[in-house]
Amino acid sequence: MSTTNLLQFDRAGLVDWFAAHGEKPFRARQVFRWMHQKGVAEFAGMSDLAKPLRAWLQGAARIESLPVLTEQRSRDGTVKWLFDVGAGDAVETVFIPEAQRNTLCVSSQAGCAMACRFCSTGAQGFSRNLTTAEILAQLWHAEFSMRESLGLAAGERAISNVVMMGMGEPLQNYSALIPALRAMLDDDGYGLSRRRVTVSTSGVVPMIDRLAADCPVALAVSLHAPNDALRDDLVPLNRKYPLAELLGACERYLAHAPRDFITFEYCMLDRVNDAPEHARQLVRLLHNRFPCKFNLIPFNPFPQSGLARSPAGRIAAFAQILVDAGFVTTVRKTRGDDIDAACGQLAGDVQDRTSRKPARASTSSAVPPRPVIPIRVEAASPPACPT
Ligand code: SAH
Ligand code: SF4
Repeated sequence: MSTTNLLQFDRAGLVDWFAAHGEKPFRARQVFRWMHQKGVAEFAGMSDLAKPLRAWLQGAARIESLPVLTEQRSRDGTVKWLFDVGAGDAVETVFIPEAQRNTLCVSSQAGCAMACRFCSTGAQGFSRNLTTAEILAQLWHAEFSMRESLGLAAGERAISNVVMMGMGEPLQNYSALIPALRAMLDDDGYGLSRRRVTVSTSGVVPMIDRLAADCPVALAVSLHAPNDALRDDLVPLNRKYPLAELLGACERYLAHAPRDFITFEYCMLDRVNDAPEHARQLVRLLHNRFPCKFNLIPFNPFPQSGLARSPAGRIAAFAQILVDAGFVTTVRKTRGDDIDAACGQLAGDVQDRTSRKPARASTSSAVPPRPVIPIRVEAASPPACPT
């Protein structure tokens, strides 16, 4: 008989699973805390559970993380794991330490079907959705291995922020995403406030509305263009959900998340979307509409993209137009430079064995987006998350 991996549940799901086996809700809560607060994976170590319950769990359940293919540590403290998710697929997770917070960048899918032109994950095509257990396993592994390597005292947390900005489009994997987010927010789980958990989306409008109702965490929207013609080209999903619809969804989202703002990510592509006129169009599009911030991401080139990174001066001029119009604007800074290339290479080695459907012809790189953090372009209080 195969056992049930308890990492697949949020607390309510675990309560239900316990109830289906005639066990009380508070038992589920105890196990949830052992798993997510203490990182205990063996039922034998759950000392406040009665012996017969431990024995039954040993036969019926397991707490199973993901096999680590590689772990790389940068000189700047950034840590990258490549996890094996089976059938030749692998996903990456990145720990980014900063003075005020430690952020974990988590993957939601193996590959991605959205085929954004500037994205190497998109160039790989889509393989499959991760399960809730596979999403949570990334956090579980990172949290408890970093507690150990940072030498944290019992109960001290290693990760203060989670961003769903790794591989994949999280809102295309909604049913697995929501229990994972709930476990992140749960006081018996990781206890993160909803402003410290960010979902980044290329603009899956109906799912933005559902997220608002089900779990209104911080929202980052990958905008990348100030008009439909250009966005249709860079983010093909725009042909289905054009800017007017996307911005309408953002507005509705904020009605569920008072005092919040939308973070617009904007990948800076040389002579594609980085002209001063593009910045002015953004200002016209978003001025006095709803609270929002801009996060400009210098493009990380990959082979066959046919795109180049905007020069620093052009990014600064673009940012200045947004700042002058009153928008808080950050420019992300690449982290973990010294471990990026090799790690991307390893991901490629694994992913080349897959039977994944290619999103576009003539793309061979499997290098995922580099981990990035913001630097301030203008003086203001630091953002709550790195988006
Ligand atoms: N699918 C989601 C989240 C994962 S991508 C989304 O698109 O929002 C996380 C961020 O990395 C997105 O803003 C994406 O546009 C950006 N990104 C993708 N490829 C990049 C590249 N080559 N250089 C810089 N940023 C990139
Ligand atoms: Fe997918 Fe996001 Fe990459 Fe677009 S930018 S292809 S949505 S991972």
